[in-house]
Amino acid sequence: AVDLPFRIDNIQNSGTMTNFEEVVQRSRAAFNSGKTRNVNFRRHQLEQLLKLYEEQEPLMMAALEADLRKHTQESKILETEFLKNDIRNILYNLDSWVKPDKPEKTFVNMLDDVLIYKDPYGVALVLGAWNYPLQLTLLPVASAIAAGNCVIIKPSEVAPNSAKFISEFLPKYLDNECYPVVCGGVAETTELLKQQFDYIFFTGSTHIGKIIHAAANKHLTPVTLELGGKSPCYIDNTADIPKTAKRVMWGKLINNGQTCIAPDYILCSKEVQNKFVEEAKKTIAEWYGQNPQESPDLCRIINNNHFQRLVGLLKSGTIATGGRYDASERYIEPTILIDVKPDDPVMKEEIFGPILPIINVESAFDAIKFINAREKPLVLYICSTDQHTQDCFIHGTMSGSVCVNDTIMQYADTRKLLVENTSSGGVCVNETLFHAGVESLPFGGVGMSGMGSYHGKYGFDTFSHKKSCLAKNFNSLGEFLSSGRYPPYSDRKTSV
Ligand code: NAD
Repeated sequence: AVDLPFRIDNIQNSGTMTNFEEVVQRSRAAFNSGKTRNVNFRRHQLEQLLKLYEEQEPLMMAALEADLRKHTQESKILETEFLKNDIRNILYNLDSWVKPDKPEKTFVNMLDDVLIYKDPYGVALVLGAWNYPLQLTLLPVASAIAAGNCVIIKPSEVAPNSAKFISEFLPKYLDNECYPVVCGGVAETTELLKQQFDYIFFTGSTHIGKIIHAAANKHLTPVTLELGGKSPCYIDNTADIPKTAKRVMWGKLINNGQTCIAPDYILCSKEVQNKFVEEAKKTIAEWYGQNPQESPDLCRIINNNHFQRLVGLLKSGTIATGGRYDASERYIEPTILIDVKPDDPVMKEEIFGPILPIINVESAFDAIKFINAREKPLVLYICSTDQHTQDCFIHGTMSGSVCVNDTIMQYADTRKLLVENTSSGGVCVNETLFHAGVESLPFGGVGMSGMGSYHGKYGFDTFSHKKSCLAKNFNSLGEFLSSGRYPPYSDRKTSV
């Protein structure tokens, strides 16, 4: 680890508001000059971004350590390596992604060119989040660069050291006119949003997502909103409980629960709950020792507001394990809550911390009803190996069929049953978080968990307007074949 040349608690602008109008105008002029349309220019900028990640990795880790007390291994897996692999994937595919698509043609257009161009939108705004403050800011930036946009980058002020790293180091590697970084908090973001952008990409809460959407609406600016919510995890008695406990606790405890796709709560029977809690206790002790506060591997809660909010949530239900906390370090022990009721405070908001409530349901059918009575989650986790029978989750009564939304349906397995009868941004079976690392899968929410998606080619597509183009020539055969459209009209001309 290296020392940060800075260590700050706050990155609000000290009383002097940046002139955002000027920043946007400069970027727009750069976009209008056409330089980002050049694919070699984009490639060079992406190579520079990769160079930044390679050369400054120790500083990136130091910034993450300062903000979240993130262990370097965790930073490597979920921030720096993630970012590097993303750029490598873009660089490898860029030439094929930028080529216009040639969709199928019908007989009518046999002699024409039918094309879909990938047009950059123009000046994009990327508003980053604090929980993975480098990855969640710079991943969409790379997609926007690849697609040929200029980008105004606003890291989250809630992770001030990571924001300072971005604002100090990005300009040393990237074109300053095309990709300026602006800093600040709520007042600055409010001011920034008064400007007209051609695309806005926001990662953060559903509440602020609505504010962003309303601001974008003024200029009819298209948006991607990567939001949050409560992602459920259904576990049935066919799951391998020791492995399930490890995978679920890993998804919950990495970054100390401050992960948008962390399993927020568990839905399972009492029988599964008892086994799960025993295995989870063993797992926590194995990973963090008897006193997790002493472990170097557990992050801290980002700030006092979030810490106090989480301490309040510990009062829901009964503590099955954990429950200790220390305000001086913003430490909260990995905690599992049982006897939780659906209207307890811990079930009313996204937890975003190391607290895992369990709600008892007797079947996958009950789980579906519970999930569908709430906002659409970012992910649905299913832990089950049941491929053939659902007798176990419908009380052994309606073998081979289940009643969902008043319709009797046939289902061959639990996974299909849950996937087809719920709506979520994504689904991940017998694993947590890893679906977000599959480059060939779009990542994003639905309903209150967000709109739009990115990662890999989906990121490039997000920042590209699909411009359709029909191109004809002037040859005589084409003119003859399409001449039936000209007046004077007659049935003879249009009959085939
Ligand atoms: P937040 O929505 O509270 O804040 C995001 C940013 O919005 C802040 O940095 C601030 O500058 C700005 N902001 C705050 N109030 C504003 C206002 N009134 N007007 C204009 N701008 C304002 O989000 P957060 O606390 O940074 O992040 C936590 C949330 O983000 C969680 O809900 C989490 O699930 C979600 N999240 C989603 C993803 C995803 O990929 N879907 C990833 C990470 C986090």
